Amino acid sequence: MTNGASDEFNLFVIGAGSGGVRAARVAAAHGARVAIAEEYRVGGTCVIRGCVPKKLLVYGAHFAEDLNDAAMFGWDIQQCRFDWPVLRDHVLAEVDRLEGLYRQTLESNKVTLFEERAVLGGPNLVRLESGREVRAGKVLIATGARPHMPAIAGIEHAMSSNEVFTMERLPERVVIAGGGYIANEFAGIFHQFGSKVTIVNRSDQLLRGYDEQVRDRLLQISLAKGIQFRFNATFEGIEQVDGGALRLTMSGCDDIEADAVLFATGRMPNSAGLGLEALGVKLGERGAILVDEQSRTSVNSVFAIGDVTDRVQLTPVAIREGQAFADREYGGIDAQVDYRAIPSAVFSHPPLAGVGLTESEARNTLGTVKVFTSDFRPMKNVLAGRNERSLYKLVVDAASDEVVGVHMIGPDAPELLQVAAIAVKARLKKSDFDSTVALHPSMAEELVLMR
Ligand code: NDP
Repeated sequence: MTNGASDEFNLFVIGAGSGGVRAARVAAAHGARVAIAEEYRVGGTCVIRGCVPKKLLVYGAHFAEDLNDAAMFGWDIQQCRFDWPVLRDHVLAEVDRLEGLYRQTLESNKVTLFEERAVLGGPNLVRLESGREVRAGKVLIATGARPHMPAIAGIEHAMSSNEVFTMERLPERVVIAGGGYIANEFAGIFHQFGSKVTIVNRSDQLLRGYDEQVRDRLLQISLAKGIQFRFNATFEGIEQVDGGALRLTMSGCDDIEADAVLFATGRMPNSAGLGLEALGVKLGERGAILVDEQSRTSVNSVFAIGDVTDRVQLTPVAIREGQAFADREYGGIDAQVDYRAIPSAVFSHPPLAGVGLTESEARNTLGTVKVFTSDFRPMKNVLAGRNERSLYKLVVDAASDEVVGVHMIGPDAPELLQVAAIAVKARLKKSDFDSTVALHPSMAEELVLMR
């Protein structure tokens, strides 16, 4: 506990991840007496073992390609050797620094921090692991989600995204289960670091929800790089064999031998053991806490935001939900989260990103749809002799000329898409894109040159 001694708070937040910390500090800034409990590390999945360290690994991995391409740009790189522990430890140190900043934020906003597990003992009562009981006007559950690990024999030999950041050494051969965000991001990372990567997915669809053409482009590029895929395949068991290698018994494909297995088969809401059922807080599928549009659960004084509600499992959405909750309940502001046109990205190699309707969603929901694509080789790739092509795509409602979706794969696609998302959110028309002068030479100019 960092400050405050009273057992009475206006708000008690369970879970100091991105959403919980935002709600706590904003509520405190509005004048509420706020406490927050965290059983692991302040900052939550995104900061401690998710988006942030992952993005740093993506940067680290990209050097493999850049150093390779450098020769065509005149650079003579004598020796290229990658040292995993050096990158790992620098990333972990950066995570420590960020955790410190999160702690400072709580402290400077006078939020009382309990570094222990907290569960609900009543509609206005929180029970801490130490036995202490704390009363609160409202309780906000922001406990996030955890990796789903299937109940197969030998699962203890597999890693989840929780462990991948602290691996002792890089595996020579790594198998990744799943075909979603984490699988594709870590396939790129491991591949660039020199591991032989095999993705095993239960269906033949990667990254469901993203535009099909863009997903297909990632698959083609990944195959060309040498990443292997086993589709319509599942794991039956994992066994350690002599010398430390793992034998993976499969159904739907041949058995595989590997040095490491990473499971990336989705994340489950962290709602178990919080005393929710006893209190009558209604849970939905996969244990998600059911909430209304004000993030209120079926118990009046209990609210929930972020991954534990399984609405949209993205950090910026949890932050928005935390901000809106605090503004509404403690700031007298009629704040709502707008779930329309949420941009998202996969930091694969190359990255892809999208906002709004995919082509097939648009065709299913709108009258007539126009699709514009630009399929090009970035000039940097041309000089480097790299065949990788980018694909940008605009989905337009033919009746209104409104751009209802933007989808991209290629270098820096997430950086460009964030800006394109403003256009989709603002319901700009294709004619607005067309009338914007191109910024030459750039990749982004393709967005305004599609005819
Ligand atoms: P995803 O939901 O992205 O992908 C899960 C993958 O595992 C899918 O291919 C899915 O197949 C498959 N799968 C699901 N359940 C099972 C099962 N029981 N057995 C076998 N395969 C299964 O999950 P991730 O774990 O990759 O990531 C979790 C979440 O974290 C993401 O949904 C995302 O919201 C967030 N995240 C966001 C990132 C970003 O913004 N860049 C980065 C990393 C994570 P199917 O398609 O058939 O369902």
